[in-house]
Amino acid sequence: MPTCIVGAGLTGLWTAYYLAEADPGLQIVVCEQRFAGYGASGRNGGWLTGALAGSRERFEATHGRAGVLALQEAMHQAVDEVIAVCAAQGIDADLVKGGELQVATSPAQLHRVRAAVTEDRRWGLVDTELLDAGAVAERVRVSGALGGSFTPHCARLHPVKLVAGLATLVRGRGVAIYEQTPVTGIEPGLVRTAAGTVDAPVVLRATEGFTARLPGLRRTWLPMNSSLVVTEPLEADVWAEIGWPVVKPSATPRTVTATPSAPRTVGSRSAGEASPTGSVRGSTPTARPRRPRWTPCSRCCTGCFPLPPGCH
Ligand SMILES: Cc1cc2nc3c(=O)[nH]c(=O)nc-3n(C[C@H](O)[C@H](O)[C@H](O)COP(=O)(O)OP(=O)(O)OC[C@H]3O[C@@H](n4cnc5c(N)ncnc54)[C@H](O)[C@@H]3O)c2cc1C
Repeated sequence: MPTCIVGAGLTGLWTAYYLAEADPGLQIVVCEQRFAGYGASGRNGGWLTGALAGSRERFEATHGRAGVLALQEAMHQAVDEVIAVCAAQGIDADLVKGGELQVATSPAQLHRVRAAVTEDRRWGLVDTELLDAGAVAERVRVSGALGGSFTPHCARLHPVKLVAGLATLVRGRGVAIYEQTPVTGIEPGLVRTAAGTVDAPVVLRATEGFTARLPGLRRTWLPMNSSLVVTEPLEADVWAEIGWPVVKPSATPRTVTATPSAPRTVGSRSAGEASPTGSVRGSTPTARPRRPRWTPCSRCCTGCFPLPPGCH
């Protein structure tokens, strides 16, 4: 009987990849409601970052200092692991490991950048560099930059290319991906779909933000919202003024305010991510934020970079 994975996003597909690696004889079935990469995996900001999400102190309280450091090390290694698998398996996902640049444009942001670097050092993480305004400008010119920090543990990638490449890769290893197959219920040893049921002793649910739509799981996930602002392709002279070289396009300036985080894409666009907006109590996974976030996000983008007037 197969192992059934519900959801063909990065979680589902990487799981399928490593399961197939570990046991090539394993029968693996992936049920996907739309198509591989339909969720955030196919439309995210393209940051492959080794940053730890969450508070080290909170993790330390439950897993100790050694556990936190091991997790951080695993996060850093994951960046190189994705790059290595893509290289070995011929997935061209526009990957460039150019590090992550945090840029402060106000004294409060600068204070937070410095505090974060001090905190890293306190944890023995010494490869985050503190930058003064001049050092930031050598990497990229952000209007009003007062300083910043740089870590090498970040790469830029093309999300759709990665997820599509992974889907092709696992299919080539015998994983069956059933697209257009919404799962309507998961029970022990059984996955229900509109097209029939899958008997599977092991079922892995990789449905992320869609999870709340499954029976009985509505209250287990809090819907959050995150958006992307993408510029039209920018001319070479604009990039020259921004000072963001084509040869090393993955430096990712990220102001410490809500927005923008902006990798330079291969198509010469800047893709900026608006930070997640809080959820409204009782909201649903399909709910839209009450106020669109892209207007302040766009304003922040044009405030940081000298984009031509009327640039979309
Ligand atoms: C705007 C935005 C920008 C982001 N930027 C970044 C970034 O730059 N870097 C980063 O690391 N992370 C980023 N993230 C987060 C990242 O994209 C997600 O954490 C990641 O893609 C989650 O992958 P997943 O496979 O768990 O979920 P998803 O990609 O959501 O995949 C879940 C899959 O399950 C399927 N599914 C759901 N319910 C069912 C069902 N009932 N039956 C069958 N199939 C179902 C969905 O169709 C979907 O394909 C961003 C997220 C957003 C929204």
